[in-house]
Amino acid sequence: MAERKQWKWAADPSLNKMEFTKLEKDGLDVIETIVNTYSKEGVSSIESSDMDRFKWAGIYQQRPKNGHFMMRVRIPGGILSSEQARVLANIAEDCGRDLVDVTTRQAVQFHWLTVESLADIFDRLASAGLSSFEACGDCPRQIMGNPLAGIDPHEVLDTRPIVAELEKFFLLNRDFSNLPRKYKISLSANIHNAAHAQINDLAFTPAKKVIAGEEVIGFHVWVGGGLSAKPYLAKQLDVFVRPEEVVKVAAGVTTLFRDFGYRQKRTHARLKFLVADWGPEKFKEQLMELIGELEPGGIDLTSGWNGGYFYGIHEQRQAGLYYAGLSVPVGRMNAGELTELARLADEYGDGTIGTCNTQNVLIRNIPEAKVAAFRNEPMIVNRFKLQPNTFVGYAVSCTGTEYCNLAIVETKERMRSLAQFLDDTVVLETPLRIHMIGCPNSCGQRQIADIGLQGSLVKTSNGMVEAFDIYVGGTLEEPQFNRKLNARITVDRLGPFLAQLITLYKADRQEGEPYWRY
Ligand code: SF4
Repeated sequence: MAERKQWKWAADPSLNKMEFTKLEKDGLDVIETIVNTYSKEGVSSIESSDMDRFKWAGIYQQRPKNGHFMMRVRIPGGILSSEQARVLANIAEDCGRDLVDVTTRQAVQFHWLTVESLADIFDRLASAGLSSFEACGDCPRQIMGNPLAGIDPHEVLDTRPIVAELEKFFLLNRDFSNLPRKYKISLSANIHNAAHAQINDLAFTPAKKVIAGEEVIGFHVWVGGGLSAKPYLAKQLDVFVRPEEVVKVAAGVTTLFRDFGYRQKRTHARLKFLVADWGPEKFKEQLMELIGELEPGGIDLTSGWNGGYFYGIHEQRQAGLYYAGLSVPVGRMNAGELTELARLADEYGDGTIGTCNTQNVLIRNIPEAKVAAFRNEPMIVNRFKLQPNTFVGYAVSCTGTEYCNLAIVETKERMRSLAQFLDDTVVLETPLRIHMIGCPNSCGQRQIADIGLQGSLVKTSNGMVEAFDIYVGGTLEEPQFNRKLNARITVDRLGPFLAQLITLYKADRQEGEPYWRY
């Protein structure tokens, strides 16, 4: 076990309970305990405080708490190899009842794992250069990026090496394994904000600046974004960061969060609360005091927002090569389908697969001569479509009561069938993004959807019934969160209600007007 750090906040008696758990034993120490003890002695041997620390291994107890676990695997920047995809598929098949979910942070999740299988899964992931460590917990989590990095005609810089550097710096770094709360980073040089900068604790977006007579491509920096029950849009710091400065800046921001972030209430601990109190100017001053001067901001290169969607076959930056954006309805697939994606990536592309924050996937680097045959592959025609229907193609869902202990309502299958119902009922010529979440924690990013559906319960003459609060108008185009309608709709009325709402809005919509702006 690594030497315990002496944190300056350790003497504060007003810390929340989880802080004492983290001080008693670092979250990362649980990995060794899982390997040496729990995976051998079984679920009954797990100490309750360690159950809280399982998150640092990327693992949560699954609902109902009967000895099964959910595991999240980091896919840095949303790019993995076909070989890694096969390893993931094999784990799902052997240990996870054949289920693979792509998450809204481009990670991959398994369900139904037993504690006895965990040590073996850690080994299998490591052998493929993958890891579940710190995919959950109060630490730097999965780094969100541009799944088209390196091939994107709309990026100003290949960000793959920078994401790799960030991943190397933060993963298992005990200087940052005890943060006040979860901590989410995004970095992309795609000019259409592919990595949803404003909803991250720390984000880097493309920018340029003339320095000493030379134009430099680099990044602008955003801090303090996050969703959950109290959503905040990140604030931009007036700095310009060269690519080689990204890790230094990320380390500085994370140090400020670690040392000045709030640790009294779990619900008031994310970086967003510190940024809201300090303001971007003070945050910038504190950052520069810590890491040295940075250039003032340059010219922003972000133009609009693509929502994280890449459907269809498109030209790459490299002449003669194409990428294919595929729909994975609500992000769920089985092991055989993931294995088939790996085959398609090898046979038609360069063996790399992209995972999108819209829970979809990409196949990269398809030569022009292979595009027609790719389009005709049964998997592409029948399952992971290039041009999905309007609602199925733009439906996002969190895990919900199927596996999540915090969920109030079922979401995954409900979102899938609701989207199918809307496709069968309403004709709409433009995409409409619907995000469904099972509780206010907002893993399904409800706040940035055209229509956000947040699960709740209502009392009826037949007892408590599942229902949804309806929100409209979320976007990161000109960033704003969606707003709540005065309507809580029980699940039996949800489809017809939305069909009517969308039909009414469609009839009233002006030419060229985007959906659901207010
Ligand atoms: Fe669970 Fe709530 Fe997150 Fe959905 S939003 S996965 S219900 S914690």
